[in-house]
Amino acid sequence: MKKKPGLFGLILLLIMAAIVPANHAFGNDEGEVTVTSKVVNVREGAGLSFPIVKKIAQGESYPIIKEDGDWFEIQIGSNETGWVANWLVERKSGTSVAKKGSGQGTITGSSVRVRTGPGTTFQTVGSLTRGTAVAIIEKNQNWIKIKSADLEGWVSSDYLKTDAGSGGTVKKEKAKKEAVQSGVTLVDRLNVRSEPSKNGSTLGKLDKNTSVTVHRIKNDWAEIDFQGVQGWVAVTYLQLKANNAKTEVNPAADTARVTASNLHVRKDASLNAKVIGSVNKDETYTVLQTKGRMTQIQLSNSEKGWVVSWYLEKERVEEPKKKKLDIKGNKIAIIHDGTILRSSADGNSGIVRQAREGETFPVIGMEGDWYSIKLKDGKTAYVAGWIVTLEGNSEQIQRPGVEKYLKDKTIVIDPGHGGRDSGTIGVGGTLEKNLTIRTAELLRDKLQAAGAKVILTRTGNTYVPLSSRVGTSHIHEADAFISLHYDSTMDQITSGITTYYYHDYQQGLASALAHSFSSSMQVNNRGSRYGNYHVIRENKRVATLIELGYLSNPVEELTITSKEYQEGITSAIYNGLARYFK
Ligand SMILES: [Zn+2]
Repeated sequence: MKKKPGLFGLILLLIMAAIVPANHAFGNDEGEVTVTSKVVNVREGAGLSFPIVKKIAQGESYPIIKEDGDWFEIQIGSNETGWVANWLVERKSGTSVAKKGSGQGTITGSSVRVRTGPGTTFQTVGSLTRGTAVAIIEKNQNWIKIKSADLEGWVSSDYLKTDAGSGGTVKKEKAKKEAVQSGVTLVDRLNVRSEPSKNGSTLGKLDKNTSVTVHRIKNDWAEIDFQGVQGWVAVTYLQLKANNAKTEVNPAADTARVTASNLHVRKDASLNAKVIGSVNKDETYTVLQTKGRMTQIQLSNSEKGWVVSWYLEKERVEEPKKKKLDIKGNKIAIIHDGTILRSSADGNSGIVRQAREGETFPVIGMEGDWYSIKLKDGKTAYVAGWIVTLEGNSEQIQRPGVEKYLKDKTIVIDPGHGGRDSGTIGVGGTLEKNLTIRTAELLRDKLQAAGAKVILTRTGNTYVPLSSRVGTSHIHEADAFISLHYDSTMDQITSGITTYYYHDYQQGLASALAHSFSSSMQVNNRGSRYGNYHVIRENKRVATLIELGYLSNPVEELTITSKEYQEGITSAIYNGLARYFK
């Protein structure tokens, strides 16, 4: 909530300004953007942390030079270019207009799930194979609503490319890369760790002779899929099987494409390190490791060097991780008092006993969406996966049809700050007001897909007084009012999400949301607590104010501005709301 640009931020901006690549030649057929927010910042690079080079106003149009992730590089003068965020502009090409509707796309993944709403919390209605042509109906930053010959629904924007000239704001297809290798474990109780190091926390254990998919190898550690997340095991305990001759040559290969022209290559992982050469736009290199904001690449058989990571486009493994049924070694925790443990994986089967909030049980296996668990007396019981949390794992089972709890609910989303009030400013330059609107729009799309009536207290970059925000809650008789903010303190260490309530009648919502954050986010959960904020204090409806992470913490700023975090946090709020209304 506070403002504090800080000296560190200024230094960072100066460093960034010094390494921005040369301008690109004018003109191609990428179309143009029209500014949809009142004033939009044009930045030196594709990220909120880059310095602002110019401000452009609503209604103005600029030619697109290229697209990178959620950003467009645009021509702002005869010899000047800059970057704008795609959620603040609308892309046009020829006669078609992109934002809502229009355009064709092609599926780029081998089996891409189509869902009833924009998020993995929504039910799958089917899947589409690579090359399937689809019509684009609607899109947001991370998800696209499509229609194929026999399916209609949402797919992740990572697995769809818009056809040339269609005018979509969708990302270009990322270079494909299948899993490098497979392997089989050679020992029992092999630790799977969160980092390629003995110091990484243990995510779980694998039994002997378990097959694993290996994505890459780094310093004698293999990165594998483990229960829907990435984990690391010591290579010594794996028997590797290369999928083809090419990958045998370099099993660790993760490659990246250079996105800047004449990018300096340095001797060490520091912007002050000696420059030993340069690499050029569209060249591809093997990635060896990443340290801070620098990535080490293989220049030739014998040469290595470091470049700034944000000018590399990583070629990613394409398919979403398959959920493994092998979840032995994990525990589930009961989150509701009186949760029923049953004799089989079926809601109509016999009741073994009821469990208390906070009780944990070792997991033996899974049947459908149910966990089979071991009781203290050695007996086996079953519990529905969507009413418990799996410890040490971010992937939760979503009950199909959780939408029903949200249908017809009136939810007012309040993106903090706006207009002349920018809110706090991140160490790297992120403005709180821009991030809150981004989060609000993603959340709105998810809730609307579930059939909720959603009202935003502001759209675009406008200043709205606190009393008007509360007024919106009262006028619409909100079933839930959610104020979104990003936090700040004087130090650069404090981290985490905090969920506030003011009145007793607001406490249930805050605690349901905090529950949801505890299990699913990359950012520490500080729980729910009392807070004296205008928008909840003056609110006669059930209202909460959430501080979704610290912009004053440079590491957290990078996390919370990422697409993954924005997707995760909005899913968590969505799930928390469903739990609250249930
Ligand atoms: Zn704020």
